[in-house]
Amino acid sequence: MKLYPGYQYLLTQEELDESVEVYKQKAITIENEICRCQRCNTKFSSLENQLPDGRHYCCECISFGRVTSRHYLVTKPLDPPKKRKIKFDFTGRLTAAQKKISYGLIQNFEGQIDSLVYAVTGAGKTEMLFKLIHHCLLKGLNVVFCSPRVDVCVEIHPRLQEIFPELEVGLRHYGAKPYQPTSLLVCTTHQLFYFKKAFHLIIVDEIDAFPYENDQKLHYAVDNALHKNGCRVFLSATPSEVEIKAAEKSGGLFCLPARYHRRLLPVPKPVRIKTHKLPLTAHCKKTFLKLVTELLQHNHLLLFCASVNQVLAMEKFLKAELKEFTIASVHAADCERHMKVKKMRQNDFQIFCCSTVMERGVTFANISVLVFNADHHVFTQATLLQIAGRADRKGDFSNGEVVFCFTQMTKAIRKAVQITKRLNQQAKKAGLLDEM
Ligand SMILES: [Zn+2]
Repeated sequence: MKLYPGYQYLLTQEELDESVEVYKQKAITIENEICRCQRCNTKFSSLENQLPDGRHYCCECISFGRVTSRHYLVTKPLDPPKKRKIKFDFTGRLTAAQKKISYGLIQNFEGQIDSLVYAVTGAGKTEMLFKLIHHCLLKGLNVVFCSPRVDVCVEIHPRLQEIFPELEVGLRHYGAKPYQPTSLLVCTTHQLFYFKKAFHLIIVDEIDAFPYENDQKLHYAVDNALHKNGCRVFLSATPSEVEIKAAEKSGGLFCLPARYHRRLLPVPKPVRIKTHKLPLTAHCKKTFLKLVTELLQHNHLLLFCASVNQVLAMEKFLKAELKEFTIASVHAADCERHMKVKKMRQNDFQIFCCSTVMERGVTFANISVLVFNADHHVFTQATLLQIAGRADRKGDFSNGEVVFCFTQMTKAIRKAVQITKRLNQQAKKAGLLDEM
């Protein structure tokens, strides 16, 4: 059996070829009646998860192949890196601020310091990484770019392939073809469960996105996949205060408070309304419809709701009240989602009611944003900032606005407004904005 270096195989004693030098560890260790899965770090009692023949197994990572207490996790170490030539075809231009970060990342990599790139939505985060990736590839090192979200991987993969035309850039996500080693890989964070000490550089995009943010297993997978001389770069538009402070302390924080187009971030405007019960009636209805039609004077509108039911009720309500506008809705389980998003890109809808499924990754031109029921618990500080980040993202300035409708002020709303103002001030101070 041919073992690819860095890839973590799940083998039994009989399948092991003792003549090959490998890292080998028991897949499940048992100590004081506590089992621990070495692949995903889940712990469970030795009275649980037992097969009839006595073997223990881990149910947390079972979708990657069942780990049992009779298995070994086996990995062939990487070959020593060899310098080489790699064609680098990046024609885009970085702003002075982006360039500074781009070089800083290389310096940190050489000093073995993990980095956090805290860049606002629309700042051009990925472009700042290309030089570092090239730097590593030239040295013959292995690089992985991973994201918790498949659509991000699918989008970045062809871009990297274009920039490194002579290199085969791998792409792995659930349901992908069998593993073929490549020195540059794009994959979902989950796929890192398949690797051990495999990458000298791990870039994790959107660390505040579901499911990476709160999943300790995925954090473990990142640590496990990192080579002992390796470094990590984390990317986020909305990192937590704790992450920012930790990165600052270690000298790994890079902040880019301005967008590529050098305009201020639209500051969210909180608007109190009496109720979120749809359909709205009386005075509340009047206020809300006035707000919506005013926003529609300059831009199309992305209207976020807290739940699927609310999305559908909002669509019905607006279709009844605002007959002169084209209105559609979308949510995660909507099977026409991709088609509708495409239509929205072509400006087919003036009002697009949506759930938080649209909070990230989508960019429309000429858009204002309204969050209905912004005081609902699904709208965390990070979610609100991501949503606000959809406005004035692309195209010429069109006065894109952000409105948060609420009945009770929340900390998340207050913080989102505060942070936006603070970033604008920082950007202004650093000379990253143009006069409007
Ligand atoms: Zn496991």
